[in-house]
Amino acid sequence: MYSLFSRKVKALSILENDIEFLKGVGPARGELLKKELEIFKFKQLVQYYPFRYVDRTKFYKVAEAHQDLPFIQIKGKLNNLQEIGGPRAKRLTAQFLDETGSIELVWFKGVRWIKEAIKPGVEYILFGKPTAFNGKINVVHPDLEPLSKANSVVQMGLQPVYSTTDKLTARGLHSKGIEKLQRNLIPQLEGKLSETLSPAILAENHLISRNEAIQNIHFPQSAELLKRAIFRLKFEELFLVQMQLIRMKLHRQKNIRGFVFEKVGTQFNTFYKNHLPFELTNAQKRVIKEIRKDLGQGFQMNRLLQGDVGSGKTMAGLLLMLMAIDNGFQAAFMAPTEILAQQHFQTLNEQLEGMALNVGLLTGSVKQAKRKIIHEQLLNGEMHILVGTHALLEDKVKFKNLGLVIIDEQHRFGVAQRSKMWKKNTLPPHVLVMSATPIPRTLAMTFYGDLEVSVIDELPPGRKPIETRHFFERSRLKVFGFLRKEIEKGRQAYVVFPLIEESEKLDLKNLQEGYEAISRAFPQYHISVVHGRMKAADKDFEMQRFAKGETQIMVATTVIEVGVNVPNASIMVIENAERFGLSQLHQLRGRVGRGAEQSYCVLMSGEKLSADGKKRMETMVRTNDGFEVAEVDLKLRGPGDLMGTQQSGILNLQLADLARDQQILQLARTAAQDLLQNDPNMVHPENKNVRRAFENFIKGRPNWSRIS
Ligand code: ADP
Ligand code: MG
Repeated sequence: MYSLFSRKVKALSILENDIEFLKGVGPARGELLKKELEIFKFKQLVQYYPFRYVDRTKFYKVAEAHQDLPFIQIKGKLNNLQEIGGPRAKRLTAQFLDETGSIELVWFKGVRWIKEAIKPGVEYILFGKPTAFNGKINVVHPDLEPLSKANSVVQMGLQPVYSTTDKLTARGLHSKGIEKLQRNLIPQLEGKLSETLSPAILAENHLISRNEAIQNIHFPQSAELLKRAIFRLKFEELFLVQMQLIRMKLHRQKNIRGFVFEKVGTQFNTFYKNHLPFELTNAQKRVIKEIRKDLGQGFQMNRLLQGDVGSGKTMAGLLLMLMAIDNGFQAAFMAPTEILAQQHFQTLNEQLEGMALNVGLLTGSVKQAKRKIIHEQLLNGEMHILVGTHALLEDKVKFKNLGLVIIDEQHRFGVAQRSKMWKKNTLPPHVLVMSATPIPRTLAMTFYGDLEVSVIDELPPGRKPIETRHFFERSRLKVFGFLRKEIEKGRQAYVVFPLIEESEKLDLKNLQEGYEAISRAFPQYHISVVHGRMKAADKDFEMQRFAKGETQIMVATTVIEVGVNVPNASIMVIENAERFGLSQLHQLRGRVGRGAEQSYCVLMSGEKLSADGKKRMETMVRTNDGFEVAEVDLKLRGPGDLMGTQQSGILNLQLADLARDQQILQLARTAAQDLLQNDPNMVHPENKNVRRAFENFIKGRPNWSRIS
């Protein structure tokens, strides 16, 4: 990438020392630290932060000792020292008491030495992990410090706890051993650690210096300073990630030329005036404006369009495709499933009726002869819009002049797949990825930080919020009764069963049994079944029957999750709802609430729910807001599960937690944006710290080029 600086920084050389030369390490432990913790140099030990702290200012009473406590610290006295067992299995026990009672202390090693060192009747501070043994609480190998000499301990306040491994522990590098090493290193560095942030950023965000932060994250002078140390180091971590993402975006904007869509023409205007079936929402209008602006700039657009299920992303997409056509380009609209592609194809055809535009559909099941015609029409420009699945990506699919690619439900496509579309014209076409999975802002900023983001944050008018209820299995009759009543009113219902990927058989059995139970309960109604292993044509046939109202109940696996639109269907029953993730539940719920009727989502679950399961049910019942659902999902599952572990692994964040540190991320992003806006190459003297830190950061992440 860029060579931002070449000057060697001598003052910091101590950090480059091999770890084996640190006092207390040596060759054997050094080898082990490298192998077990990837600590090769001093600088890596510096960044080996504690994972928690023990509050050594807090004292317990004996009566409060409980095996669930990670540690206890008690003031008290010893008596009743006893050596037990023969010469081989010798152990030492003692009673430790205060005014609330007594617990047992046990030593298995160093018995003779300890017996001489500790004195009955003297006041001690006991520190250790309480365990339960034979129904009593004891502490094995406690730390004991005479109260008279204990000032050092008490003043220590928050004591760091470092994670370690069995092999390191066997070499004396348990948490305390590592703490000792840190005590040999960290105080030496006082005032010597170079700053990574600019004075302006430090001041604006009320951050403590890197020096102070490192000192305090290992050896906090106070709880307040520890908090500020962690805040500061998280900020730095997120700031550097954002710098990279924003620079990538600027780079793309400057260097990757794109087609200019300069005008709004006949197709767009005709459609807008004569064919648009409804008034656009303000959010739709705003988003189209934002995108239009991008398309006129001459660089390639890469934009994420977020909008909750039913917010009308497709219509925004359609208008943009018309804009492409008006400017002499073709457009492609890619969806992750056959059903969805077909539905888009149908909707587009209906909406564009009477408009002399040629829309094609290309999916895996399109026959060879038809394919050939599509290929030809794409090449000679007769086809204006191609809708399809992954089939669009094939090399054989060539366009005369592809200008815009819209990708629906983009989280279902991999990066590599998307980038294939880039190559389908001389300049990369503009790309709009649409997602109904509301991505929490933090994740969007982190994973798509180099994309533009537009949000449709408003539903079309007149929608009644979906009512969501949670029922246990025992209320099934009641639920069926409710279903019956609604169907009698002319409504339709989905009943969805979870897909259990590990066991296809069980999965089908579930669906089969469910289907039979429903058939028995509703003999007077027609029932459709759709699942993943049916032929596309059969699936489509069943979907169409349901869409036309010929069947009243659709029993399905999650194949109907994405995008499907049957406005008369107003009830969604989700079986074994506890097995679904939140975002999936929300997606499923989005299948109803598309018509004028009051819609319902019924979550059926087993009686026993895990804590997470309960939280998921509660969240669904409480809110219809996809972003709120996504935030809870993020907290429950972590970013890895939400975005794919591969992507989150690339980020490799040490301290920051994308679920919890949203506020810090926001601040860090703003700081990065401001800095790069004023000084894109970080050449101003006040930004030299940042430049150096950024250069180091990039060096540490060789594979980190494009993650979105
Ligand atoms: P999603 O954002 O989930 O893809 P869709 O594009 O499928 O949502 O839109 C959901 C439904 O709302 C469709 O039936 C669509 O025709 C309708 N719709 C979209 N925009 C509007 C609007 N501005 N006013 C009324 N209905 C709209
Ligand atoms: Mg959609």
